[in-house]
Amino acid sequence: MGNADSHDNAGFRESAGSKKNKARIQRLLDTLEAHHPDASTELDFGSPFQLLVAVILSAQCTDKRVNLVTAGLFARHPDPAAMARLSESELLEEIKSINFAPTKARHVARTCRILLEQHGGEVPNSREALEALPGVGRKTANVVLATAFGVPALAVDTHVFRVANRLGLVKSESVQEVERRLERIIPREKWSLAHHWLILHGRYTCTARKPLCERCPLTADCPEYAKLTKPGAGVKKLSP
Ligand code: SF4
Repeated sequence: MGNADSHDNAGFRESAGSKKNKARIQRLLDTLEAHHPDASTELDFGSPFQLLVAVILSAQCTDKRVNLVTAGLFARHPDPAAMARLSESELLEEIKSINFAPTKARHVARTCRILLEQHGGEVPNSREALEALPGVGRKTANVVLATAFGVPALAVDTHVFRVANRLGLVKSESVQEVERRLERIIPREKWSLAHHWLILHGRYTCTARKPLCERCPLTADCPEYAKLTKPGAGVKKLSP
């Protein structure tokens, strides 16, 4: 994902501004909402701390795998003080079946220490403090802010990025740009929910390699579907 293409962006600005396109975008958002009325994270957690750890562990790993690991981990070490009592190698042993376990064990161990030393053992609710924690980037901070603290935030992960582009909600190859554009077209109070709508749609229907268009409720308004089903289209490269 590189920088946004300025020509594409200009085109999107024009088309997004048209009445017809605004109505199309609204229909897409309404349909996504109707299909995922109770959308939320699929990660299991019982506190902001557990959510933070689960999100750090979930990078490039399935929520299912993370939940399998955290079920025992959180039962034995539910808070930063308890988890900080583990050495890094003990923590690694606990999470070894997760992708990039050594790096994540290091990040979680250091995060626990920082939470204890600088935040009284609590997860901070400011973006700046969250992003200062090891292994926490903008996406993780957004998920924690939205899910643990109810702060409107729209985290763009691989599913959100792909689905938003395929649906023509945005047209950009830049994650930051996708986040900004989604924030413009989605009402602020729906940002956190919309993040989950797009993730769930990408995870279960608009999958990366073989989107399940035949069971998708958005075909009528999806430019990607129009492209894929154009007479004589043959095998097309999916975007992005
Ligand atoms: S119609 Fe197909 S490409 Fe479009 S959003 Fe649905 S699953 Fe994805």
